[in-house]
Amino acid sequence: MKKQKIVILGAGYGGLMTATKLQKAVGVNEVDIQLVNKHDYHYETTWLHEASAGTLHHDRVRYDIKDVIDRNKVEFIKGTVEQINTAEKKVILQEGELPYDYLVIAVGSEAETFGIKGLKEHAFSIVNVNAARQIREHIEYQFATYNNEKEKKDERLTIVVGGAGFTGIEFLGELANRVPELCREYDIDPHKVKIICVEAAPTVLPGFDPELVNYAVAQLEKKGVTFMIGTAVKEATENGIIVGKGEDEVEEIKAGTVVWAAGVRGNSLIEKSGFEAMRGRVKVQPDLRAPGHDDVFIIGDSSLVINEEINRPYPPTAQIAMQQGVTCAKNLVALIRGKEELETFTPDIKGTVCSLGEDDAIGVAFGKKMTGGTASFMKKVIDNRSLYMIGGPSLVLKKGKFNIL
Ligand code: FAD
Ligand code: NAD
Repeated sequence: MKKQKIVILGAGYGGLMTATKLQKAVGVNEVDIQLVNKHDYHYETTWLHEASAGTLHHDRVRYDIKDVIDRNKVEFIKGTVEQINTAEKKVILQEGELPYDYLVIAVGSEAETFGIKGLKEHAFSIVNVNAARQIREHIEYQFATYNNEKEKKDERLTIVVGGAGFTGIEFLGELANRVPELCREYDIDPHKVKIICVEAAPTVLPGFDPELVNYAVAQLEKKGVTFMIGTAVKEATENGIIVGKGEDEVEEIKAGTVVWAAGVRGNSLIEKSGFEAMRGRVKVQPDLRAPGHDDVFIIGDSSLVINEEINRPYPPTAQIAMQQGVTCAKNLVALIRGKEELETFTPDIKGTVCSLGEDDAIGVAFGKKMTGGTASFMKKVIDNRSLYMIGGPSLVLKKGKFNIL
């Protein structure tokens, strides 16, 4: 009998978890597995704010995919997916075509710009390793240029962060630690630097525990961050951003750097391939398959799972993407072995920890609130755990965070 073929698109948290779980569960000749990714490395999306601020080298946030896959069972293909043709069961890559029997779509997310004018042209987003490098280098360029100009442009030293969700806050934490270093490196008076966070909601980290939010705001303000709450970014321009409070109150903030961290949507590949989606995310069935497509699983940030307790979607997180990878691998094994009964995906949310720089954080884990060193320790344990789950102890030794005391 012809061997069946599983194609996994994306080697992020969801895709790589599926591949590494599958390779443990199947025999060498049981099924063909192909893993496709844009780059030959995996990056820790959850560490990109550090590479963007320049507090962690970009090579620390990535590792070779070939180091964690069993090449006897999984073939890695470096390629960029352009579209999926579900009717003909094939994936169209920039580099060619791939037929499949079962497909896993785990291509992550993109920045959500809500159609706001000028953002795509004038703002950066923390979306992958190269984008993170560009943000770091752009900020350094602004600092390096400042003292070499006859007419000093103070706005070069203004950095605006749009959105005070978890990404915005984690980036601000790193930035607030990095700016004093940059000032020393480039002979700049720290008082000239402005870090401004613009948040449309009435609070930072909307929906998160208010006591922890107050702690985060106080810590970041102490390090020089200014929050503009209840204020929405309306437009990005060559010179900075336009913000608004309500309909009439509009203000221009001149800035050398604008980082857009105000939310994500599913990968545009989803809509391009004809899946019915909400902001690029497909509401998957309990077994993680796309409605109407019994041979297609969608996991990670391009999938949408409803939290029945509050009747709202779970926020897209690495925590969920990895757990989906485990269920997806089990369900694929069941299908290739001819079983009809598939496992239902049930998220097991262990908590949320938000870093405020290298040595500070806030969080709720296993029902307990924490701040400062304890929360920061927990964050590093979580980071190391995700390495362990995909690549075992050797990956933790190679890439782990051990500056935990
Ligand atoms: P990803 O991990 O983003 O992987 C997608 C993969 O698909 C990438 O390798 C990409 O190169 C590849 N790909 C994309 N398009 C194509 C294409 N067309 N062709 C081929 N390959 C493609 N979540 C948490 O749970 N905890 C945290 O602490 C946390 N911190 C975060 C910090 C930051 C700064 C950010 C930005 C996010 C954070 N998140 C966190 C959210 C988390 O990173 C995402 O939910 C998670 O990465 C989603 O996993 P995924 O597998 O769907 O996508
Ligand atoms: P988010 O949706 O969680 O937050 C975006 C923020 O931007 C919101 O507070 C929103 O009110 C604000 N916003 C939207 N439009 C705006 C505008 N025009 N002007 C100003 N502010 C505006 O998005 P995120 O922070 O990018 O996070 C994406 C996902 O990644 C989330 O699911 C999050 O939980 C996850 N994440 C988790 C962690 C962690 O667990 N430590 C860290 C980073 C990201």
